Amino acid sequence: MKQRLLFAMLLLGSAAAAQEKPVFVNDQKLLPVLWQQHAAEYRALCYQAFNIAALRLNEALKHRKGRPAIITDLDETILDNSYSEARSLREGTGYSQAGWKQWTDRSDATAVPGAVAFLQLAKSRGVAIFYISNRDTTELQSTLLNLRKLQLPDAELSHMLFLKTTSSKEARRQQIMNRYNVIMLLGDNLNDFTAAFEKGNIENRFAETDKVRAEWGRRFIVLPNSTYGEWENALSEYRRGLTKFQKDSIYRTLLKAY
Ligand SMILES: [Mg+2]
Repeated sequence: MKQRLLFAMLLLGSAAAAQEKPVFVNDQKLLPVLWQQHAAEYRALCYQAFNIAALRLNEALKHRKGRPAIITDLDETILDNSYSEARSLREGTGYSQAGWKQWTDRSDATAVPGAVAFLQLAKSRGVAIFYISNRDTTELQSTLLNLRKLQLPDAELSHMLFLKTTSSKEARRQQIMNRYNVIMLLGDNLNDFTAAFEKGNIENRFAETDKVRAEWGRRFIVLPNSTYGEWENALSEYRRGLTKFQKDSIYRTLLKAY
């Protein structure tokens, strides 16, 4: 309703509409955030990922060996944090650690579509769930509360491996792999799967993706995230502190036009 009214005001060239809060039409994140929040295509992709994951779960459990476990990332794999991005967009601020912490302190992330049902299914089949996240350890309690609100299985500190010293998840994955038969990994960022993608430039990331081509949709289940991720850092070759204008010009040089 609000949306319809706004459209009507804009079409009429209403002075009131012109006085609405400024709209950051050029912000890089505007469309991706709207896509995550409003595109049924996004929802369908998430269901698709978890439907495939459920099939693979059945297959993996037919040849059960060892104690089965699933390793999953949290942000934009299980938890939807688009609200935090949306707030930054409204306020015209970029990402900040303080802003992020303010969001996670609320324990209010919703679940990525299909995530809760899939992890509950896995748990009911005797699979242990481990959450490996680069949220830091000051966010453990608030995240634990968030996971419990969403009724996610194995919501226990012993099943949550958060960022301590290194953003690489490899050592934390190994810790689980030493004790369990890890039948599946889930993530929205290729660094959630193996260390091969870490700090890779665009070409390296493609090459490493091709090398394990058969694993996508098999042992590796990828969730969509076009708002942020290592793919974005790779665009600017991991340069920190770029202004949005600098990013804009780098990104434009990368466009493949005909
Ligand atoms: Mg993530």
